[in-house]
Amino acid sequence: MNELQHHAGQTESAQAQICELLVCPRDKRHLHREGDDLICETGHRYAVSEGVPIMLVSDVEQTHIEGTRALAIAESGNALTLAKFNLGPNDIDPFVKNVIAATNGGLYRHLVGTLTEYPIPSLRLPPGENRQFLDVGCNWGRWCIAAARLGYRPVGIDPSLKSIRAANRVARQLGIEATYVVADGRYLPFRDQSFDQVFSYSVLQHLSKENARSALTEIRRTLRVGGSALVQLPNVFGLRCLYHQMRRAFREARDFEVRYWMPAELLSTFAESIGPSELSVDGYFSLNVQPSDLHLLIARYRAVVHASEALRRLSGKIPILAKVADSLYVNAHRTN
Ligand SMILES: [Zn+2]
Repeated sequence: MNELQHHAGQTESAQAQICELLVCPRDKRHLHREGDDLICETGHRYAVSEGVPIMLVSDVEQTHIEGTRALAIAESGNALTLAKFNLGPNDIDPFVKNVIAATNGGLYRHLVGTLTEYPIPSLRLPPGENRQFLDVGCNWGRWCIAAARLGYRPVGIDPSLKSIRAANRVARQLGIEATYVVADGRYLPFRDQSFDQVFSYSVLQHLSKENARSALTEIRRTLRVGGSALVQLPNVFGLRCLYHQMRRAFREARDFEVRYWMPAELLSTFAESIGPSELSVDGYFSLNVQPSDLHLLIARYRAVVHASEALRRLSGKIPILAKVADSLYVNAHRTN
């Protein structure tokens, strides 16, 4: 896989790191390089598009339309149809400017097209001390950037090639060491026990619960014994979540719509799939409250963030409040 290292997409050490971790997402067998492709010992073939490995499983239904698009690009070998550019020190990546409300939620809608800085959240984790970190559904990489700044060695996956290309551009621009791969959370293309910390935010909610369970099984497989997964998901009893469910008349979610989980269901599912788990409150009134982004928000939404933070602090003393939080974190530990 040496040729991979000559592509501009990622730094050399990030590429060396990924070469050590990657396996076939179908059967987890060893990969070797053949021309522009990666091939496993049983013959499964994956394209590398301008330095980005496209490790999607083509013969299953994709969880996101962008996965289907990435596979079409992989098959055509026609990477040149994608715009290629470098960002100046003060530019904001045009892809990020466009998708900011999709990746960060409704509180960021006014920033579409006008974003002037990257909103990098603060990660509720201890310092990384060079430990290996995986973000499942990283999009343009905000959590990977947060992880790198906290001392982790981040790897991000996303089914969207456009997102992964943006993630590489932004990391390069900010001087962040991170590795990005096009992949599907249900079929992680990494060796067993590759990661100390797995993270996922606002992602598994878009999968059916069956698909989310498949992703959790893969998260456990790729976690080291002693490692943890921190996963954010929406609470079925959250005040704002109840309102959204009411608007769709409590019918079953479909396609990319949000799936709401009961706290007890989260605990049992994560305990079965990964190991001992606990819940904590992420926030209220939105599924993406980031106090670190306060200065970017309009006054009305700043008030939402302040209210959410006040309730979150109170929820430590008044347990009933935790039960109606909209956004929950599950922290699950692999113990064997
Ligand atoms: Zn294979």
